[in-house]
Amino acid sequence: MQAKEELVKICHKVYEKGYVSAYDGNLSCRISENQFLITPSGKCKGEVEIDDLLIVDEKGKLIDGNGKVSTEVKLHLIIYNRRKDINSVIHCHPIYSTAFATAGEGFTKPVFPEVVLALGKVPLCKYATPSTDELPDSITPYIDFSWAFLLENHGAVTVGKTIKGAYYRMEKLEHSAHTLFIARLLGREKTIPLVKLKQLYSIAEKTYDIKIDERNRLDY
Ligand SMILES: [Zn+2]
Repeated sequence: MQAKEELVKICHKVYEKGYVSAYDGNLSCRISENQFLITPSGKCKGEVEIDDLLIVDEKGKLIDGNGKVSTEVKLHLIIYNRRKDINSVIHCHPIYSTAFATAGEGFTKPVFPEVVLALGKVPLCKYATPSTDELPDSITPYIDFSWAFLLENHGAVTVGKTIKGAYYRMEKLEHSAHTLFIARLLGREKTIPLVKLKQLYSIAEKTYDIKIDERNRLDY
């Protein structure tokens, strides 16, 4: 029940924030090793209520609930099945992040120190036809080490150990995409110098106890 309440709260939040429009997006969380709570297809996230949430198994089969399972459930399940440390997946279409994804650009350069630490590298996953296996396939190369993904011509996905954790990554992703967009209007963003980036990584481990996977480190 607590997970249902929290998921509904975050559904309302992503709608209020404008990260989704109409029926867009889907949010889920793990409730046991092989069972997941997920929003139904064709329902506005701003109007989702506790009774609308569905429970599916690791193959996407409906176990409980009355709605229709979204075809994007595959995106969630491939992450849960590969990453046992992940308990929540959020998929939205936030404007600025999606704009970068549509321009064919991931976030791979070090610009904002907190983004370097909280999100790491945000890969651009190749365009995939909705409802096909192309969608989960497009994020497969990055699943093992990424916390946020941009889907080309589509939207964004963030993951977390908790629902809140996944949500705050979405918020941070969109906030940094927005800031980067403005910086480009002013000219162009400057990246953090390599020596400072190295310093940041060493502080991350010593001061914040954050371990960043080598594959998820920003590059030049
Ligand atoms: Zn979508």
